[in-house]
Amino acid sequence: MSDSSSYVTSTVRHVYIHVPFCSGKCSYCAFYSEPCSHKRIVRYIEALNRELELFGKQYGMLVPDTLYIGGGTPSILPDEALADFMRMIHKHIRMNTLVEYTMEANPGTLSDSTIALLKNSGVNRISLGAQSFDEKILTTMGRRHSSGDITRTVECLRTHGLANISLDLIAAFPGVDTQIWRDSLQKILAIRPPHISVYACSVEPGTRLEQQQRMGEIPCPTESESLEQLDSAYESLTSSGYTPYETSNYALKDHACRHNMAYWQGKDYAGFGPAAASRLGQLRRHNSENLTAYCAELEKGLWPPAESEVVSIQDDITERFVFGFRTAYGCKLPNENDVPEALFTHWICTLSDLQSRRLVCQQDGRWCLTHRSRHLADAVARELLP
Ligand code: SF4
Repeated sequence: MSDSSSYVTSTVRHVYIHVPFCSGKCSYCAFYSEPCSHKRIVRYIEALNRELELFGKQYGMLVPDTLYIGGGTPSILPDEALADFMRMIHKHIRMNTLVEYTMEANPGTLSDSTIALLKNSGVNRISLGAQSFDEKILTTMGRRHSSGDITRTVECLRTHGLANISLDLIAAFPGVDTQIWRDSLQKILAIRPPHISVYACSVEPGTRLEQQQRMGEIPCPTESESLEQLDSAYESLTSSGYTPYETSNYALKDHACRHNMAYWQGKDYAGFGPAAASRLGQLRRHNSENLTAYCAELEKGLWPPAESEVVSIQDDITERFVFGFRTAYGCKLPNENDVPEALFTHWICTLSDLQSRRLVCQQDGRWCLTHRSRHLADAVARELLP
């Protein structure tokens, strides 16, 4: 990142750290993760320490509003390593401006002592990968937890006063019929976490799910099944007091995820760890998905291997604009003078066409998805790209 300082146009207020370890591989997962061992964890924490140190030397100490520890499965770190990890974070990141500090965890991986450690380190939000409440589906997904683990983990977090919890569900996973889906929705509503994410199952290249489908071992979810389950989630959650503030995310009052909102609202963010991405002004950087190479370069005092690109001002503005469609708040059309005339004309014509098809509408000078297009944010964004 050494050549990028001129592209950092604002102070970074949002920080992501990737912990690349999992106890197994879920069948649908395309995120970067590795099996974990004590030796690998120690090496990773030291390398991460060096990456944060390099960043601090070049740009100054990180003073974020939101910090998100994702993975992988961050909660898989044993308590001793987790304590080292948290101390190291405190060394490089100033905590007194932090309003949201999220850590991802899997049900069944948080003991009392781990939760106490997280709380003492300032973590104030937990995102739990529930995915389903059906035992058979959890097994097919390759998850390593049961439905009971989800409820027990939530109870334990609440007992410790860590009640700001998000639960994820996957809609239209092969084998999830209407009854199973309704049952999962009922169970999640009985828990009533302040935040729920509902993602449609997508078959990613290189995953076991893709292989199973190619071999005909597992049926492919159809688009109509997927839309039907997303619709029933929308109806159940909104009628239970949740606001659909983003195309896949629902929250009770004041519990929208600020960190993810920053991505969708086009803010800058810095990512650390293998596979982590950053958007700093016009710089886009994506650390390589290779833990060994990540550690090896940092041990030499160098930046970790990454793909980086300085995008044009037009591409930067376009990306930040179209991301905003995901949120209920919508997005403002960029200033005409900041982009080439042809691009601005393309946006005006496309928005007018989308509006005539009732796929976008205007509210208080902002462009938003309509009720009809609430699951079609990506398709709308694609039409607006040059
Ligand atoms: S636990 Fe999460 S990151 Fe790990 S394999 Fe499963 S879905 Fe992927």
